Amino acid sequence: MPMTTIKGGTVVSALGERRCDLAIDEGRIVAIGDLDPKGAIIDATGLLVMPGMIDTHVHLMDPGDTSREDFIAGTSAAAARGVTTIVEHTHSNPIRSVADLNEKRSHLNQRSNVDFGLAAHVWPDRIGEIEDLAGSGITLFKIFTCDTHGVPGLDPAATVSALEAIARSGSRCLIHNEDQALTLEAERRLRDAGRVDPGLLIEWRSREAELVAAAATATAVLETGASATFAHVSSPPVLDVIDEYRRVGADIAAEACPQYFALDESELETAGPLRKFTPPARIRDEDERSAMWEAVRARRFSHFSTDHAPSTLEQKTSPGFWDAPFGLPGLDTTLPFLIDSALAGRTTLSEVVRLYATAPANRYGLAKGVIEIGADADLVLVDPDGEWSVTDEDIISKAGWSPYSGRTFLGRITATYLRGEEIARDGRCHDLRSGRFLRPIG
Ligand SMILES: [Zn+2]
Repeated sequence: MPMTTIKGGTVVSALGERRCDLAIDEGRIVAIGDLDPKGAIIDATGLLVMPGMIDTHVHLMDPGDTSREDFIAGTSAAAARGVTTIVEHTHSNPIRSVADLNEKRSHLNQRSNVDFGLAAHVWPDRIGEIEDLAGSGITLFKIFTCDTHGVPGLDPAATVSALEAIARSGSRCLIHNEDQALTLEAERRLRDAGRVDPGLLIEWRSREAELVAAAATATAVLETGASATFAHVSSPPVLDVIDEYRRVGADIAAEACPQYFALDESELETAGPLRKFTPPARIRDEDERSAMWEAVRARRFSHFSTDHAPSTLEQKTSPGFWDAPFGLPGLDTTLPFLIDSALAGRTTLSEVVRLYATAPANRYGLAKGVIEIGADADLVLVDPDGEWSVTDEDIISKAGWSPYSGRTFLGRITATYLRGEEIARDGRCHDLRSGRFLRPIG
């Protein structure tokens, strides 16, 4: 690839914004400053230049039910909207051994448009696999505290054993917190009552169930010294639990997802299964929305992820509420949502870079997410004066719809680069399949 200079843009890092040029050679950033352009010139006048985003909670169903999503479509959506690295795991085809990891890596050869790490699942009767897997290149271990998406939950004893093994091996984990006993009891009661309306989700996957599980796993994290991320923290009371345990030394990151900021609990009534995800949306009024953003500004959240778990409209709406799959598509919309939120003053552009690139890369040991000499030239160009009115037709994910259709996001992503090569422009991915498997460091 010839040398390239990105000229005249405003570089946004986790630390701030500054006008400067970037020179790229052999896929890496080789100079930063007021540069005499060499080689090809990309005119970034009036544009923001950000590191490519790092989405560490993504489900692409490949191998798996690829009628819902596959790696090619999912990573095309990512590339088109500024995400250049993902960490993926698929519940129906979990990685539970080194052999599973190797099989998945070979299956994914030339199926990714962005760089990718892979997560393993902890299975209650296969905790012994953790230490081998930790050294084999997986980015993190996924743990459920209750049976969800066909993955068995870990009881407290299994959770402690798993976290001990994760701590010993210096690995990391992502924990889905909902209490098994409370969700099972609620499900029994709701089914006995003959409930089939979407409102049942709020009682089935209750606030209490998330809080009880969060407190129990926080205790286990503290006792074992493990490094854990609490997935999709849905509301400030869960942050209160995390903060309490952090104060006494627990290493817990709090993952934020757009759906807990942008979607309201009441949308279950109008959109039904299209808002079936768990934990469900919690916001009931503008004060609660403001409290979530206040928590972002107070840095109580560690990073943003999407929890991209798509299904088509047909798959979501035809089976009836109990049997509809959980999850939302999101890779198409997470960075546009965050940029819009920054341009509207809820946070800053630097914080978007920190929360959706630099911090998750640091958390999981990925050598990505920064603009500095020697770094991979994974970059996204954004026109802050543009906008995107989202329609289902724009959605590249196989879902083919978005909970944000009908909204207009301020700012427009114009181009995405992976190791110096343009992989997407104006909302279209070039489908070069140049994404590589990425191992964590350290
Ligand atoms: Zn998930």
